[in-house]
Amino acid sequence: MSEEKSLNFIEEIVEADLSSGKYQSIVTRFPPEPNGYLHIGHAKSICLNFGLANKYGGKTNLRFDDTNPVTEDTEYVESIKDDVRWLGFNWAEERYASDYFEQLYGFAIKLIEKGLAYVDDSTSEAIAQQKGTPTQAGTNSPFRDRSIAENLELFKAMRAGQFKDGEKVLRAKIDMAHPNMHMRDPIIYRIKHAHHHRTGDQWCIYPMYDFAHGQSDAIENITHSVCTLEFIPHRALYDWFIEQLEIFPSKQYEFARLNMTYTVMSKRKLLQLVNEKYVNGWDDPRMSTISGMRRRGYTAEAIREFCDRIGIAKRDNLIDVGLLEFCVREHLNKIAVRRMVVFDPLKVVLTNYEGEGEVLWSENNPEDANAGNREIPFSKELYIERDDFMEVAPKKYFRLAPGQMVRLKSAFIIRCDEVVKDANGIITELHCTYIPESKSGSDTSGINVKGTLHWVSARHAVKAEVRLYDRLFKVEDVGNAEGDFKDHINTDSLEVISNAYAEPALAADSSDHRYQFLRKGYFCLDKDSTTEKLVFNRTVTLKDTWAKEVKKG
Ligand code: ATP
Ligand code: MG
Repeated sequence: MSEEKSLNFIEEIVEADLSSGKYQSIVTRFPPEPNGYLHIGHAKSICLNFGLANKYGGKTNLRFDDTNPVTEDTEYVESIKDDVRWLGFNWAEERYASDYFEQLYGFAIKLIEKGLAYVDDSTSEAIAQQKGTPTQAGTNSPFRDRSIAENLELFKAMRAGQFKDGEKVLRAKIDMAHPNMHMRDPIIYRIKHAHHHRTGDQWCIYPMYDFAHGQSDAIENITHSVCTLEFIPHRALYDWFIEQLEIFPSKQYEFARLNMTYTVMSKRKLLQLVNEKYVNGWDDPRMSTISGMRRRGYTAEAIREFCDRIGIAKRDNLIDVGLLEFCVREHLNKIAVRRMVVFDPLKVVLTNYEGEGEVLWSENNPEDANAGNREIPFSKELYIERDDFMEVAPKKYFRLAPGQMVRLKSAFIIRCDEVVKDANGIITELHCTYIPESKSGSDTSGINVKGTLHWVSARHAVKAEVRLYDRLFKVEDVGNAEGDFKDHINTDSLEVISNAYAEPALAADSSDHRYQFLRKGYFCLDKDSTTEKLVFNRTVTLKDTWAKEVKKG
């Protein structure tokens, strides 16, 4: 796909670890929390983790980080698996942090036994107070010096359900004056009488992220645990637990999360868009979710190429969404079959055309010699785009105008002779003559025209609805824009064209086809299509503004 590139910093680490013999092979993981659908940022992480294992002959686990019973759901688990597979990756093992609850509980017992954890009765406000500030040391909890025996007894009572939510927590006993706030006796277990989507009501205590993630990595012998930059301050804690528990020494490495212009990239925010009905579900084609992009017609190849091009950064940045669109367009140009669809029909009657009509042929894809040809019916009555005609045209207008000629794509040259209007002065049809000897491929007319229009045969065309999408947000950097992110929603992000006419080849096609509608953009069939009405999504426009910008720049 791409030419020889220099290694990113994580590949450098992996290569060093392999060549020093530290590891014989690597194990990575992709660890989503099943509290929403995956977005393009996750795709970046998926491509990185699976990409490393593929490149270096290791393996990648898919691990659901399901330690928070309240927000998680099996619907999300299933969607995540679908999305990873669709992106083209296969995991070695499907794991769940909740499968490790018993082991994690055992790790907590071990810490208590080593005098490194204690049960704290302080309220959450009191615990926050004790934490101090980045410039001020914290203070010890009054419960910090409980005996090991008492801590063991209380922790077991916590598990047994003897306390209410929030009444007690288990904290690691590290150092309340530690310069890293995360090391100031972090909470490692909390009481939550909540139903878990996998373990049901088996547990009423749940480990915190920091007490689940690294340990889950260790249980799975993950060699390189890759996460995003906001976890840098957690790394000391990650290492501390692993060291104290004497388990497999997984190591954490951080890279910059993907941020993209005109896009939100947080499951929490995406969930709000869904719940508050700004969009029609997680797979709305305007969403930055993988399922939304798939429905919109993005290809997995294009998304992988995008992730590859942006590389692995160590500092946060904002990627132009135009680059993603560029990758999509580039791939679709190679694979999309060409079709003609008229969005806003104006009838053309060929006054000199005799007979029932005929079948013409056109290439499916000029970029692909193997794509073959398709039949296009031609007849006396056609539709062209209303805005491809002008009654009073300016000088260099190369489309249709009274007395002017254009070519109909893959068909004939026509000339407009007469404009027919209704009582209100609205143009209802054009009377034209066609030039029989101008047929595409065997044109002997000697006539040169500058404009080529797309068209459909009125009698043969099938009805279609076409959905055109614009950006969901009006500002570039949604994450850093003033006010609530929803204030910046573009309320005109969906335009529905309900009376389009498509050439009949579209009705016969299967749904996984990608199309280029001539002069209109790239499209795919939407799942809302019925046999009565085809529904298409515009995946991306034809215009390539991003590449132009880059050339200029
Ligand atoms: P969100 O805030 O959207 O829920 P998250 O980081 O909480 O994101 P997780 O399900 O915990 O989501 O993420 C799974 C993996 O994907 C983690 O390793 C996380 O670092 C990575 N990830 C999430 N968002 C991005 C992003 N924007 N860019 C790169 N990696 C990401
Ligand atoms: Mg999260």
